[in-house]
Amino acid sequence: MDDMTAPSGRVRLMGLADSSEAYRIRDFLTRSVVAFDWIELASDEDCRRELGLPELGNVRLPAVELPDGHRMFAPSLQQLADRLGWVSQPRLREYDLSIYGAGPAGLSAAVYAASEGLRAVVIERHAVGGQAGSSSMIENYMGFPQGIAGAELAERARQQAVRFGIELLMMREGVKAEFRDNRIRVNLADGSQMVARANICATGVEWRRLGLEGETRLIGAGLYYGAGMSEAPLCRDEHVFVIGGGNSAGQAVMHLASQAKKVTMLVRGSNLAATLSQYLVDRILTKDNVEVRYNAEVTGLDGSRTLGRIAIADRASGTVEWADTRRMFVCIGGAPNTDWAEKTSIVRDPTGYLVTGPDLFEGGRPPAIWPLERQPFYLETSVPGSFAAGDVRRNSIKRVASAVGEGAMAVAFVHRYLAETA
Ligand SMILES: Cc1cc2nc3c(=O)[nH]c(=O)nc-3n(C[C@H](O)[C@H](O)[C@H](O)COP(=O)(O)OP(=O)(O)OC[C@H]3O[C@@H](n4cnc5c(N)ncnc54)[C@H](O)[C@@H]3O)c2cc1C
Repeated sequence: MDDMTAPSGRVRLMGLADSSEAYRIRDFLTRSVVAFDWIELASDEDCRRELGLPELGNVRLPAVELPDGHRMFAPSLQQLADRLGWVSQPRLREYDLSIYGAGPAGLSAAVYAASEGLRAVVIERHAVGGQAGSSSMIENYMGFPQGIAGAELAERARQQAVRFGIELLMMREGVKAEFRDNRIRVNLADGSQMVARANICATGVEWRRLGLEGETRLIGAGLYYGAGMSEAPLCRDEHVFVIGGGNSAGQAVMHLASQAKKVTMLVRGSNLAATLSQYLVDRILTKDNVEVRYNAEVTGLDGSRTLGRIAIADRASGTVEWADTRRMFVCIGGAPNTDWAEKTSIVRDPTGYLVTGPDLFEGGRPPAIWPLERQPFYLETSVPGSFAAGDVRRNSIKRVASAVGEGAMAVAFVHRYLAETA
């Protein structure tokens, strides 16, 4: 099924409290705008009632029950997406345009490319929506005066692109690119290869880690990256922590504060980041159950199976105290997803962002590896026909609107490139 339609009934997801596997599925379903019920199983009796199976200890959890009654035990995301009908095979051997990433930039490029008649395909390694899909409420995107949840905005864009005929390949990841014969050939993680005449890289950024001992083990078991859209309803009566002082941390705080007993925002600096919108600053500072602590840094995590407490260092006084908590949300920015561009002649800056257009120029000229007479187009990388849009691009404005704008612009440049290589 190309048209990734959400199932009409509700999905039932059953599992143990604080299970990181259950969290991964909750997060995936939330981002994909699939209605589901989360049912916590704590005893054999729960197991009998919900699954009709006698012993909790003998069931591979989490269990998923689809609206048609089909059950899956401990499924991978790939298996789940497959069963929901969202994993399909490429229809063509070669495309005019391949777009990597289905965040706002990739989805916007998809809408314009498909509506303008290009044979185009989008390759997305996870759920549609990218970072925006994890935003509880985007309030500054033009045309939505009451705001719109990121996952909903993404879902609308997906439907629009599909209606225009885009091919969307989910749960696929580009891992290595090669440019030859005016074609981009990308090896995908599943072993297949995607060939296109032009490409737009809209792979965005990935959450930065804290770099603490035990961090990997606790992901999804009390420690979350991003706003924790799927987790807010589970925070009732809890004191939770949000790490970071930027817009995404601010949104996470407000979203969690609507459910949790108390939210503490830990900010490394001595004030809220200049990038935090004023409307969010005002709300955070006046919300009763929100506390903001400045000069505060998390330096330790404690908990064997799930998070139990965190060490908070006061950067001004040097003192460290431990705070009990079952949930912490890390929103400290990210690094670009550009590993796939290693060993290509695409120029990246020292932090990995793709350099495009005028930013490529040195002393008023394109770099030596640029092979054409003409100058690179505005969003073109150092490889002709390979474009970058959105957060992954050096010097991009990290906003939904600018990512959407760049996705549309990149398609206009793709047309010009294809015309010159026809
Ligand atoms: C919690 C949060 C709240 C935010 N709130 C706002 C807001 O209110 N207003 C606003 O304007 N901005 C907001 N932002 C910023 C905004 O979401 C980003 O600027 C925007 O999503 C960038 O879009 P993008 O398409 O460039 O990248 P992304 O959204 O990062 O999407 C990139 C996509 O590429 C996929 N991908 C990565 N690597 C590969 C690969 N190798 N192969 C295939 N696919 C790949 C990823 O899975 C992802 O889906 C928020 C961000 C966050 C995290």
